[in-house]
Amino acid sequence: MIRIDIITIFPEIFKDPLNISIIKRAREKGIVEINIYNLRDYTDDKHRSVDDYPYGGGAGMVMKPEPIFKCVRALKRDNSEVILLTPQGEVYNQKIAEELSKKEHLIFICGRYEGIDERVRSIVTREISIGDYILSGGEIPALVVIDSVVRLLPGVVGDPESLKEESFQNGLLEYPQYTHPRVFEGMEVPEVLLSGNHEKIRRWRRKEALKRTLLRRPDLLEKATLTDEDMILLKEIKEELGKEVDYGFNNSKCGKRND
Ligand code: SAH
Repeated sequence: MIRIDIITIFPEIFKDPLNISIIKRAREKGIVEINIYNLRDYTDDKHRSVDDYPYGGGAGMVMKPEPIFKCVRALKRDNSEVILLTPQGEVYNQKIAEELSKKEHLIFICGRYEGIDERVRSIVTREISIGDYILSGGEIPALVVIDSVVRLLPGVVGDPESLKEESFQNGLLEYPQYTHPRVFEGMEVPEVLLSGNHEKIRRWRRKEALKRTLLRRPDLLEKATLTDEDMILLKEIKEELGKEVDYGFNNSKCGKRND
């Protein structure tokens, strides 16, 4: 059982996203416990204020340290990971998701306004950014992290095989997927997927995953651990692509319309 505590001034944001589908089931099964704490409940003044003017002047408001310290101290245990969502943190990825999924207790501090008093960093154990852009609050970033962590917990996703195949899990993007109908608006499902030959299908999928990663995310391919078969497949891919310029985003042969 992993416990997740969220500290926010907008608890209502979390109501729906944490009560549907995979996360809802994980909570019902007792695999994860998620609690939301309203930061205003940890204030001492009658206005329940959580922000104040920045020292030194400038635009906007800054979140005060006292309520955040009080709330974190009330929740923190020896094994807690205290996470601050901030555009200045390490950029989130699947590897961090895996690390967090092995912890026993995660506390998320969601910022608002112009950010948080710098001294809060002294009680934080990890700072996470979900990407190089600015959001108006840490709530959506917290949901992004929580969603990706919860689906990695054992027993949450029905078929653990589907996790293994997923993009990033093995350092590559996932191969293309198809479902019925076999022909849709002139676009056909690749023949090999109908063959019933499991070995051929496995090889085709691995090759497509490599191709996709080569074309779209060569940076990932450089870091991936590749087998001897992968090297052979990559050689085939490079020969097949020849001098053709294909950035892979909307130019692949599979799924291309014939009209
Ligand atoms: N002025 C701050 C940004 C404040 S945005 C700065 O330049 O660093 C308000 C809050 O939204 C932040 O405190 C943080 O909790 C959250 N936030 C905004 N963008 C984010 C991102 N890319 N990743 C994680 N949290 C983010």
